[in-house]
Amino acid sequence: MKTLDELYQQMLKRAAEGKPVGVDGDPKLIDCLAHPDDHPLIWRVKPCLCPPDEPHHCQEACDWGAITSGPDGIAIDDSQCVGCQACVDACKLDTLKTRKDIIPVVQELHDYDGPIYAMVAPAVSGQFGPDITMGKLRTAFKRLGFTGMLEVAVFADILTLKEALEFDKNINSEDQFQLTSCCCPMWIAMIKKLYHQLLPNVPGSVSPMIAGGRTVKALHPKAKTVFIGPCLAKKAERKEPDLVGAVDYVLTYQELRDLFSVTNIDLASLPEDNLPHASEAGISYAYAGGVSEAVTETVHQLNPDRQVDIKTRKADGVPACKAMINDILAGNRDGNFFEGMGCMGGCVGGPRAIIKKEEGKANVQAYGKQAAYKTPMENPYVIELLKKLGFPTVEEFLERSHLYDRKFD
Ligand code: SF4
Ligand code: SF4
Repeated sequence: MKTLDELYQQMLKRAAEGKPVGVDGDPKLIDCLAHPDDHPLIWRVKPCLCPPDEPHHCQEACDWGAITSGPDGIAIDDSQCVGCQACVDACKLDTLKTRKDIIPVVQELHDYDGPIYAMVAPAVSGQFGPDITMGKLRTAFKRLGFTGMLEVAVFADILTLKEALEFDKNINSEDQFQLTSCCCPMWIAMIKKLYHQLLPNVPGSVSPMIAGGRTVKALHPKAKTVFIGPCLAKKAERKEPDLVGAVDYVLTYQELRDLFSVTNIDLASLPEDNLPHASEAGISYAYAGGVSEAVTETVHQLNPDRQVDIKTRKADGVPACKAMINDILAGNRDGNFFEGMGCMGGCVGGPRAIIKKEEGKANVQAYGKQAAYKTPMENPYVIELLKKLGFPTVEEFLERSHLYDRKFD
């Protein structure tokens, strides 16, 4: 019987050639690959072999209570799963696999008659090779059939302004504090599920991914949106009830690399296709500490004479995030702006990045240095985008539009 990976390669190649993706093999695995939305985020690809009366490593690894076990092995409750991948890593028998969404995307690129936009996460710099620039990637996406490629860092710019304005409005005494970052679904899930009492300290903002999807759909109602990043948790975020509809597909850099490979696209030889892009601050969302730097700089630009200065503290990786939250709850705050990222190093350390996190961070920082603008306050492309949405200034957009708002309950 063919493995999931063998079926994946065969079906992806057929999809890229515009052929029907039906192949011989296990019908359940084929259905997972062809219709991932009908299946959970984590796929059980073979029977569980752990004895029922012994602890299951996957269940022990899941901090979110998403796994139950019974006589037929384990079951995963998709509504509780945040996509941290701890269970997949914990299963020594290779029984669990993470979802792949690229086959339906390739079929859409062949069949859909409306626009399809690729939205790349800020960690993308250098993921496909040291010489593969943003301009070459944009050309590659168009060759694959996408209408265009957007840098999600531009939406990180707008959200930086939103977070900075919220900080300036809400944090005016030593006992007040704000938790960010809206960009990491694992961090937000941690607060929602495990530390509910801190939700009032989290500004109600969507992530840059959701902001990007909503903006594209506001400007092009027939468009489909495909986010591409290093993250699995984004695949779960896309389906959260209050966010559903903004992003049609979430792919990983590894899935995109597989598509470049089966279509024989030689990225290095492609011409540049450049557009104005994000500020250095928006690009820095890709690594741990970047959001804090971006918001700090912007708060200082917005209101240089604040009585209560912004004092940041950050944590990356689930254990460090939990330790930081426990400190806050115990009264050892030592800060008033707290940034949490679910992965070590931030998104450059995401589970589906292609290169090492240190290399990823260095590439992102080098790309950020080339940006024409340091913060979103200086970035005319942000203003231009908001004008297209009908708002002359960022302040007016944030006051009158609810496009990027989120209500936590
Ligand atoms: S991916 Fe994470 S949250 Fe989902 S079932 Fe596995 S361990 Fe639990
Ligand atoms: S830090 Fe990890 S879980 Fe959080 S958004 Fe980035 S890649 Fe995803």
